[in-house]
Amino acid sequence: MSFLQTITALDPEQLKQRIYAVTELEVQRVLAKRTLTVDDFPALISPAAAPSLERMAALSRKITRLRFGSVMKLYAPLYVSNECVNACLYCGFNVQNRLARVTLTRDEVLREAKAIHRLGFRHLLLVSGEAQNKVTLAYLVDIVRELTRLFAGISIEIYPMDCESYRSLVAAGVTGIAIYQETYDRSLYKALHAGPKADYDNRLDAIERAGQAGMRDLGIGALMGLTDFRVDMSCVAIHAAYLMKQFWKSQISISFPRIRAAAGSFVPAFCVSDRDLAQTVFALRLVLPDADLVLSTRERPAFRDGMADVGITRMSAGSRTSPGGYSLEEDSLEQFQIADTRTPEEVSNMLAAKNLEPVWKDFDRSFLFE
Ligand code: SF4
Repeated sequence: MSFLQTITALDPEQLKQRIYAVTELEVQRVLAKRTLTVDDFPALISPAAAPSLERMAALSRKITRLRFGSVMKLYAPLYVSNECVNACLYCGFNVQNRLARVTLTRDEVLREAKAIHRLGFRHLLLVSGEAQNKVTLAYLVDIVRELTRLFAGISIEIYPMDCESYRSLVAAGVTGIAIYQETYDRSLYKALHAGPKADYDNRLDAIERAGQAGMRDLGIGALMGLTDFRVDMSCVAIHAAYLMKQFWKSQISISFPRIRAAAGSFVPAFCVSDRDLAQTVFALRLVLPDADLVLSTRERPAFRDGMADVGITRMSAGSRTSPGGYSLEEDSLEQFQIADTRTPEEVSNMLAAKNLEPVWKDFDRSFLFE
């Protein structure tokens, strides 16, 4: 059964009822198990698990150290374009926001990349809005080929593509992809999106096309605050477990961005507190011990510092969320406001103070048999 069939067969209301019916006794039973599976996620994400947060944190920390060691992988996003044809209600790049738009030229991308390289990063995340006529496959292949001279890992967070296009990007040097479903609730998804992104099935399937094309890092996630995070993150957990089985050669990573202020006037329907987000991280770690859990600079420094050694394994640092943000003067639109404005060096020092080794590079192309 494909994941699309799985999610279509899943009744979100039933899942919600299951989560809210969990008792504290059931949570204790789950926490006492030797091996947890994704079937245990509803118990761990339930309100009934909230009193067990410290126990979950301790288990999450232990599992993270056992599986990953005392390390934190670091990466930086490079926004190549803020042009977009979609009108996602929650996003600053929404086509209806009449603000400065830019797609970086090849030379400007390289200037940005060199600035990021000088900061120490060897893992880059290329980000763009959805403007296929500006950020074309040929443009991406060209810049990726050039960027492989500087970066060992190059991930993309762009519009969904077909498998052949992903194969071309892998051949050029792309190693990973991040593509978030935003919400797994089909009717809410429809209400929030206008433009090509409104095609729920095409977006959901994209990660599998990328896996078939040979990407070694497959990243999924949901935008927390659009709906009840307990239900959406349960779907993320099921999705990640599915991908781990299907694409066992790839690393599966999970992001859980909370909605941040952006251009426009979108107000999130649900408030996701720090405790809620921490519970999400611990629950994911307990049922998916091998998944990379990613925390971006959307989150405040104090929260990021606290989460650094209890489940998170990958962080961005020193991020700029506008095209040209690292090296150019132009004042173009940011996708969202960042909360952790520390330099990569400051983040690295924070990690060292926690006895965590910052990992700037975790892959080399010479590992590949070609
Ligand atoms: S979320 Fe992505 S696709 Fe939607 S408006 Fe923003 S940049 Fe465009």
